[in-house]
Amino acid sequence: MKYNIPRGTFDILPQTSYKWQFVMDSFRKIAASFGYKEITTPIFESADLFERSSGESSDVVQKEMYRFTDRKGREFALRPEGTAPVVRSYVENHLDVLSSRTKLFYIGPMFRYDRPQAGRFRQFYQYGIEAIGSNNPYYDAEVIALEMLWLNSLGLQNIRLELNSVGCPTCSAAYDEALRDFYRPQLPQLCPDCQKRFEQKPRRLLDCKVASCKALRQGAPSQLDYLDQPCAEHFAQVQAHLQAMNIPFTLNPGIVRGLDYYSHTAFEFIYEGLGAQNSLAGGGRYNGLIEQIGGKSIPAIGFAGGFERLLLALENEHIDFATCPKPQVYLICLGETARTAILPYLNSLRLWGIAIDFDPDKSSLKAQFKTADTVGARYALIVGDSEIEAKQLNLKDLQSGMQITLPLDNGQALQQFIAQNK
Ligand SMILES: [Zn+2]
Ligand SMILES: [Zn+2]
Repeated sequence: MKYNIPRGTFDILPQTSYKWQFVMDSFRKIAASFGYKEITTPIFESADLFERSSGESSDVVQKEMYRFTDRKGREFALRPEGTAPVVRSYVENHLDVLSSRTKLFYIGPMFRYDRPQAGRFRQFYQYGIEAIGSNNPYYDAEVIALEMLWLNSLGLQNIRLELNSVGCPTCSAAYDEALRDFYRPQLPQLCPDCQKRFEQKPRRLLDCKVASCKALRQGAPSQLDYLDQPCAEHFAQVQAHLQAMNIPFTLNPGIVRGLDYYSHTAFEFIYEGLGAQNSLAGGGRYNGLIEQIGGKSIPAIGFAGGFERLLLALENEHIDFATCPKPQVYLICLGETARTAILPYLNSLRLWGIAIDFDPDKSSLKAQFKTADTVGARYALIVGDSEIEAKQLNLKDLQSGMQITLPLDNGQALQQFIAQNK
């Protein structure tokens, strides 16, 4: 019996896992420096949570959600996105009572039954930011700045921030009506999905990927012409904040976001080097979502991005952003007695935080030196029976060839030597 990985999933293998750790750690750092704290929610939630938040008619709920019934007949779903679970937790744990604003970030796998292609998987790893509690346009700019500064700091400079406002329920109704008027004469030429969306979610027609639908949207009315006074004022403030922060952006009224809960600001971070899957991250305001899933009316804004595409983009730009960790010390052991005697010393070194490796299946000096070279160790620690007897160790710097003798203590002498000779 031979088992294969499920379609649309991937293993993070040891030869690349350090890259994943690097980008995840680096995201944690930038989020912390903006005052965001990590939240981790379960991988599965009540299916109803996503149906209510994303909208019954959304592609996520209709086609992409991994739904299952547990042994007691309860309906669950593997989370297709991170915002609804965070908001569920926020409401359930009364985080609004603790503070008038809550700044959260998350990292973890999400699941969507989607057609796998480059940069798109059925299990994919996302990072996300949620600033909950304020409608201040400063926060729109803050979360956008966080992502832009982070991408730039990783070495990605050719990022385009596309910005839009999708208005509020009041003014978007007028816009929806204008869109229906625009599309009505062409209704028969639209794809079956768009024909279904026409009545309920005409804005979704703007992000249909079918070529004929794309062509038909030429000359469609812009949401930005339909914003009411408060929405227009908010959007102007967001732009003013971004300008003050020197974050460049372009307006794109075509950014509508796939999920129902967005209002006001919507944005995407585009990197052109990846073909069709060119969105590295996206988000927007969701002032209505918390109330929609049982909390108070509390405004919020956030975004999510995918680590897969980010890593592809870094690779595509040939950015050398992380190095594979190597052992600092490789132990070369000659003889059985020495090998047993050195074990407590090895453990002490490892407790001091020194990465030390050895291969008990290699016995000759030559084979062990060769392995030290293969694993890329900086130092070789050479020990035989006579060294154990003399309570001494030989350390060879494999870069310079310099060799020194150290006392066989609890590991402190070597720890100090390495700290001084980084
Ligand atoms: Zn409005
Ligand atoms: Zn369509």
